[in-house]
Amino acid sequence: MTTTRFAPSPTGYLHVGNLRTALMNYLIARQAGGSFILRIDDTDATRSTQEYADAIREDLEWLGLTWDQEEKQSDRLDRYAAAADKLRDMGRFYEAFETPTELDLKRKKQLNMGKPPVYDRAALALSEDAKAEMRAERGNGVWRFQLDHERINWTDGILGDVSIDAASVSDPVLIRADGQVLYTIASVVDDTDMGVTHVVRGSDHVTNTATQIQIIKALGGTVPTFAHHSLLTGPQGEALSKRLGTLALRDLREAGVQPMALLSHLARLGSSDPAELQMDLQSLVDSFGLSKFGNTPTKFNVDDLYPLTGRYLQALPLADVADTVSGLGVPDDLAEKFWGVCRDNIETLNDLEAWWTLCRDGAEPVIDADDADFVAEAMTLLPEGPYDDTTWGTWTAAVKAETGRKGRGLFMPLRKALTGQSHGPDMGSFMPLLQVIKAKA
Ligand code: GLU
Repeated sequence: MTTTRFAPSPTGYLHVGNLRTALMNYLIARQAGGSFILRIDDTDATRSTQEYADAIREDLEWLGLTWDQEEKQSDRLDRYAAAADKLRDMGRFYEAFETPTELDLKRKKQLNMGKPPVYDRAALALSEDAKAEMRAERGNGVWRFQLDHERINWTDGILGDVSIDAASVSDPVLIRADGQVLYTIASVVDDTDMGVTHVVRGSDHVTNTATQIQIIKALGGTVPTFAHHSLLTGPQGEALSKRLGTLALRDLREAGVQPMALLSHLARLGSSDPAELQMDLQSLVDSFGLSKFGNTPTKFNVDDLYPLTGRYLQALPLADVADTVSGLGVPDDLAEKFWGVCRDNIETLNDLEAWWTLCRDGAEPVIDADDADFVAEAMTLLPEGPYDDTTWGTWTAAVKAETGRKGRGLFMPLRKALTGQSHGPDMGSFMPLLQVIKAKA
């Protein structure tokens, strides 16, 4: 069975970059009728918080990305310890005592000599006595996995054939000096135990994948199919990493972005398929294909989410937004009309409030000096409310007959006088919603 997972660390709020990973894994599982696991990668106890873990769930629920199983790495520490013991018994695990400063110095020397900055395995040469001495002096060391120096190959779901020379990679630290198990081994143990068949993640994990393939094999697991999507950049190709904090999913929700707009955009961005609004998740599932994605950095522009949100909303019946509409105080008998007229003039539901305020309280009229007399005359011809769908037509016909104005010169000053704006809903349909017309007073 196809099993995928989304494995965020609860050290911050989910952002669009995380969502791209979550969505791809979700869609693969759903398309195959498989299982999607939410795994909270909380081995870093100092940086992980319950609040962020809850926020991750809440954000995924908002988007409708349901998961079939939930796991938490802090519940599984004994499994990681057992795996570490196994690697130790196999002689693939060794303790190293270099301080960060020493490692840095080694790296600098290597770079100066034009060599790749790969850990030199000096610790492998330490005798048991030397290690005991080090331990007494410096405390416990870190535990490194000894890579087999051969090429590591895999066929990546996005990058195609990848081949990495293990000798160009440092032996990864899997356990820190303070005993904290690191993601690299925890993830491997989980993926194996949970039967994960496909792993999609960002291309910043390519080297991790190479080392993890060797660890999985050492532990006797089955190597899943890996795919690495390109990283998102800003609209000009600039690195997004620093701005990702401002692209948190909860901020987008707050700004009124609709889940389907966000999901539709991210399910296609960077693929050969054109960006297209889909109205439901199933349509995204049906049209998704990992092989359509390219490996060049993908530009993301938050502004693209708003027109899509507008188009999504325009397709919704009142029933889908009835709570929002009545929450604004729109009376039930006007709700259908209000939504039918205003949905074409909003980008997000947040924009509805301004339209309702305008209808309820009237707009400050905008009257150009040249039009002052014309508007004043027109207002004397405006009948008393309440208005209906025929009011605008009858009124503007009367104003035309009286003043001789026609076309834009007739309609635009009246629109601006009634709504305070030069753009907006069709005035014929909008008139019945206007409770107050300030220009009339
Ligand atoms: N917790 C890891 C991260 O957020 C998971 C990476 C993975 O998918 O294996 O980067």
